[in-house]
Amino acid sequence: MSTVYIISAPSGSGKSTLVNELRKWVPNLDFSISYTTRRPRGSEQNGREYFFVPIQDFEEMIARGEFLEYANVFGNYYGTAKRFLEQALQSGRDLLLDIDVQGAAQIKRKIKDAVSVFILPPDKKTLEWRLRNRSLDTEEVIHRRLLTAAKEIENYQSYDYILINDRLEQSIDELKAVVLSERLRRSGAKLSNGDKRILATAERCLLPNIRERLQPILASFALSATPS
Ligand code: ADP
Ligand code: 5GP
Repeated sequence: MSTVYIISAPSGSGKSTLVNELRKWVPNLDFSISYTTRRPRGSEQNGREYFFVPIQDFEEMIARGEFLEYANVFGNYYGTAKRFLEQALQSGRDLLLDIDVQGAAQIKRKIKDAVSVFILPPDKKTLEWRLRNRSLDTEEVIHRRLLTAAKEIENYQSYDYILINDRLEQSIDELKAVVLSERLRRSGAKLSNGDKRILATAERCLLPNIRERLQPILASFALSATPS
């Protein structure tokens, strides 16, 4: 049985960095390459980071029912093609979706046992610094991304796991642990001590277990923690 993993994060939190690392370490995990109407950035290549298509092509794909989910993010369309899920199901591989909060909600409605992870920066200042330091966006775009970040973070409660991307090595370990622990749980196999450590690492990131650490992060975005 394939498992679908959803990863969302405010732009600049380190999601691409973490997903790239995860893909290096964890086998049998397909990555869904989304379609988008935005233009390529930096060294992005068509068919590698995204399939870059004109709006008309995207709208024709919507009309033909080719998307599992799609959304408008920052004024551009982004969508996951159904064929990525079909291929993963056929080959028994897991599928990783890097999508926004709107897309994540659509997938959760359609695929009940999908596992969702929300990545947070340690605080707003660090997010701003990472966006600037990445040197990919104009000041205007950075400003817009920071405003949007707070709105996206408001949805953190809809996710199964929360990963605070402070120290990179630790975050990579945690993300790997989330995927591996779900596989272990679903396999029903007898657990070794190593397996138990993986489970414990993942469990620390489960939403109910991380709530206390979220307070200062939410406060830095002028958000308050609401009770579960
Ligand atoms: P996203 O995909 O969420 O937009 P990126 O992966 O592009 O974010 O990361 C934004 C910037 O932050 C990049 O320059 C990346 O190298 C850096 N970065 C990512 N994770 C960390 C971390 N834990 N500590 C410091 N810098 C990080
Ligand atoms: P970026 O333009 O920075 O690559 O991505 C902007 C946002 O679009 C990110 O939050 C990313 O997760 C989201 N995104 C990328 N692909 C998809 C997709 O197929 N569907 C949805 N709903 N969001 C996506």
